[in-house]
Amino acid sequence: MYVSNPMMAIIGCQVQSTCGILVGGKGSHLSLENCSRNSGLQRWEKFRRCTVGLRVRGGVSSDGQLESLPSFERGKRLSELSTLGIGGPAKYFVEVHDESQMSTAIRICRENNIRCFIVGKGSNCLFDDRGFDGCVILNSLKFLERQGRGVYRVGSGYPFNTLGIQTSKDGFTGLEFASGIPGTVGGAIFMNASANGQETANALKSVEVLCADGERIVHTKGQSDLVVYGYRLSPYQTMPGFMAILAATFELEPCLDARQRHKSLLERRRKTQPVAAKSAGCIFRNPGTGSQSAGALIEQAGLKGIEVGRAKVSNIHANFLLNAGGSSAADMITLIELVKEQVKRKLGVDLREEVIYVPYS
Ligand SMILES: Cc1cc2nc3c(=O)[nH]c(=O)nc-3n(C[C@H](O)[C@H](O)[C@H](O)COP(=O)(O)OP(=O)(O)OC[C@H]3O[C@@H](n4cnc5c(N)ncnc54)[C@H](O)[C@@H]3O)c2cc1C
Repeated sequence: MYVSNPMMAIIGCQVQSTCGILVGGKGSHLSLENCSRNSGLQRWEKFRRCTVGLRVRGGVSSDGQLESLPSFERGKRLSELSTLGIGGPAKYFVEVHDESQMSTAIRICRENNIRCFIVGKGSNCLFDDRGFDGCVILNSLKFLERQGRGVYRVGSGYPFNTLGIQTSKDGFTGLEFASGIPGTVGGAIFMNASANGQETANALKSVEVLCADGERIVHTKGQSDLVVYGYRLSPYQTMPGFMAILAATFELEPCLDARQRHKSLLERRRKTQPVAAKSAGCIFRNPGTGSQSAGALIEQAGLKGIEVGRAKVSNIHANFLLNAGGSSAADMITLIELVKEQVKRKLGVDLREEVIYVPYS
């Protein structure tokens, strides 16, 4: 199994477990008898279909209503959930549209000892060719509320680029860089996405998160220890008991140039990056102070355009590794290792992945 940096491989896996899956039926806490009394056979059948045989405690609220239960599926191709277009099937898959569905999905995974992985747009994920032996939760919490002058509260599944465009058009600065980043707000906070001298953390006022025990916490700037961000670093990568980013509030300053600035950043991106190709953006982190960018190093090492199978180093931007059509995760991983080895040998610099490799198990 490829885990060149074990931390990178696991930081996105919110539930780790070695146990097998408990299947419903006799052990289910929602019995057919109960259910037919409460809500009828039809609703039980719908409920059963939603959970594809998973063991579910509760499911019916105190007033006899079914919980807002998301539909679980089996075998969803993860290549459809990542901008790289790579990845085999997920054992379980569920798309959640609101907080209640998110917390129910996570609870069901916990009760069945199933690892879960939350995916936004999958624009920083490299899934395994075998897929994922757990449950992938697709985050579609997509609301936006304007709460005051320059204050926006958004669901974590809201598209980050749309937020960048909207706030710039409204005449506020802080998120111009986001237009062109094809992720969600949750993914941008988790990764502390940044570009052109702006970063997600600087624009944040507060973040609403869900913990493993079901507790909902709000981390507010200036009032919480959990506000330490860095280059591609957020507190949520290491916070014990953290499960999901649910929503965030951004506080932005008025700026007459914001709209123009976002347009020129987008234009520059289109000229310097292979935006139409299948990629995860920059595969490697920039090495840091005193060093050239990862892209410049890869180019200097003469690696632009090299290929392994159907994985290729972009000719436009050397830190973009592309799925040139039909690339496997194995191709991509071999190319990543090759680039690292060559840059180290020729230039003496250790490159470190920015992309998150999600192992099968
Ligand atoms: C063409 C292109 C250009 C890019 N340009 C940039 C750039 O300029 N700057 C930059 O920083 N990045 C860039 N990226 C990388 C990527 O878009 C960002 O890292 C983005 O923030 C990832 O968001 P996502 O929703 O796709 O996250 P995903 O890839 O879906 O997930 C990334 C990680 O975040 C976790 N996560 C996501 N949502 C949640 C949530 N709600 N709760 C808990 N955990 C969550 C996942 O579990 C995973 O570990 C680019 C990518 C592409 C394809």
